[in-house]
Amino acid sequence: MRVVDYSELEIEDVREIARRQEEEVLDKIDPVSEILEDVKDNGDLAVLNYTSRFDNADLDQDGLLVGDEAIDNAYEMVSDQDIQVIRRASRNIREFHRYTKPSTLELSEFNGMELGVKATPLDGVGAYVPGGKAAYPSSALMTVIPAKVAGVEWISVCTPPNPDGEINPYTLVACDIAGADVIYRAGGVQAIGAMAFGTETVVPVDKIVGPGNAYVTAAKMLVRGTTEIDFPAGPSEVLVLADSSANPTHIASDILAQAEHGGDSLSLLATTSREFGEEVLNQVENLIDDRERIEIIKKSLEKSMVVVGEIDELINFSNDLGPEHLEIVVENPLNVLKKIKHAGAIFVGSYAPVAIGDYATGCNHVLPTGGQARVHSGLNTRDFMKTSTVQVVGREGLNKVGDIAKRMAEIEGLEAHAYSIETRLED
Ligand code: NAD
Repeated sequence: MRVVDYSELEIEDVREIARRQEEEVLDKIDPVSEILEDVKDNGDLAVLNYTSRFDNADLDQDGLLVGDEAIDNAYEMVSDQDIQVIRRASRNIREFHRYTKPSTLELSEFNGMELGVKATPLDGVGAYVPGGKAAYPSSALMTVIPAKVAGVEWISVCTPPNPDGEINPYTLVACDIAGADVIYRAGGVQAIGAMAFGTETVVPVDKIVGPGNAYVTAAKMLVRGTTEIDFPAGPSEVLVLADSSANPTHIASDILAQAEHGGDSLSLLATTSREFGEEVLNQVENLIDDRERIEIIKKSLEKSMVVVGEIDELINFSNDLGPEHLEIVVENPLNVLKKIKHAGAIFVGSYAPVAIGDYATGCNHVLPTGGQARVHSGLNTRDFMKTSTVQVVGREGLNKVGDIAKRMAEIEGLEAHAYSIETRLED
């Protein structure tokens, strides 16, 4: 990990860090388009072929759908304690998402009328739960539960099978506890295509959500138009904004935790004290050898960086970057929090590592990456709902604003519009 002064960084350097995944995704557009076309034309057959090619799993057509027996077997394979842990995590996620769910109908008085918004859930949603290099039962909870809380009628999950044609039992248990209606053994581009276009087995959905690798992200971008998607949620990243009041061992442990996600993950430390930054790097060196995923961590840390600057410079750095995860570990964190504009999830204080939010607080961990937090929010119940405006207009409201509508219609030459107001005003 290198140490740089904020003053040495150009804004373009910062944007480049943020967009590190962009090129990787763009590189995949051609092969991904071909797979999507094939899935569109050949349905299940194409999904089965790519599952064999990329996941080394030879399924028959019936094998695409996970049956009750496979779910029962998964429960047998997971200990009661672990089932309880998954249930507790689910409860916290459900509670937090219920709290943040928009109300279904809110009307307020404006100019003698009642105006407001009616929020309604989408009919059908597909959750992509990654499963290539690792299993992510937590992502099953984080995608399915908010959809359920929002009131989505039909929720499917696609996740890749292992070479034996099976899905990780923890992922299956998590999907079941979260309330998925159907689970398919399909991953990668073929899964995204199947959920977008539909196949003989896979039912098409209105929206696809969930994280994935660069192939999955490219596929989501390409099916947009046929179906809605959430946002690019690719290789993970953290920015820790800390001063010398923070515990260097804790911060080093968060940097290592982020780095173990994958060689393409990114861990950044922004600090007001060069000495503190160097102490964190020493702690990283001390702790790294005991980590199980040391090779992945080392690869990821090649790109990592410590940025040293004044607190306001570091806040600017963070806002320019729009990190997926932002930890604020400084003496007066709330002062910094007020100035933060763009971040997927913000963790405040010494006892708030990213890992607590990844699994247990109840907040969502499916977050925009690669600078997308500058324009997107993390996954939440609103992603599974849309709103209609509602306008309850009586005589009083018509009298108050009818003349505006009539004249604007005349200005635009829409005589019938003007008449529809006039006939009522004259009643
Ligand atoms: P994945 O499920 O996203 O991808 C596996 C699939 O990729 C395979 O099923 C295969 O179909 C496809 N694939 C592999 N090689 C291919 C090729 N050459 N051509 C076409 N398709 C190919 O699982 P993964 O690879 O482990 O990646 C998961 C990603 O999701 C990681 O980057 C992880 O950091 C990220 N993630 C992000 C979040 C978040 O909230 N942002 C949460 C969990 C995981």
